[in-house]
Amino acid sequence: MPFTRIPPEQRFWPKVEKTPTCWLWKGTKRGGYGLFKEDPTRSHVSAHRFAWTMVNGPIPSGLAICHTCDVRACVNPAHMFLGTALDNNRDRKAKGRNADTRGESNPSAKLTWPQVRAIRADRRIQAEIAADYGISQGTVSAILLNQLWIEPDDSTIEVKGQVS
Ligand SMILES: [Zn+2]
Repeated sequence: MPFTRIPPEQRFWPKVEKTPTCWLWKGTKRGGYGLFKEDPTRSHVSAHRFAWTMVNGPIPSGLAICHTCDVRACVNPAHMFLGTALDNNRDRKAKGRNADTRGESNPSAKLTWPQVRAIRADRRIQAEIAADYGISQGTVSAILLNQLWIEPDDSTIEVKGQVS
């Protein structure tokens, strides 16, 4: 049977691995999100959007499908909700997905936010502060100059994130 004759719903599920919670997309992915060829003659659609559509019908224009499970490759319709693009961004922010990895969320970070704030309030010389926290003087300098550990509510993070 030619590829094109198989209904998309039938081609979809063999690419999905159902775990007890999330249904993980095993096919092509971009940015963590599954990609599915609903129509072989057209470009890919989002796998999770397609899954949601199969259950709930067409997605109203301007609205986004958000994950409650925070797993981008998940195509379990029960893990999705309809939201505005703004909801999606807000949701991501709340979950820290857009968080600056140069801060505490960076696994190699030696410091925590309370320490960083204490360093910024510290009036001793940099070498002394550095010795105190077991970090280099360069790190202390970068923290004081706001080159490292930029406060999460600093609007520059948003701008930088969009440029990269
Ligand atoms: Zn899920």
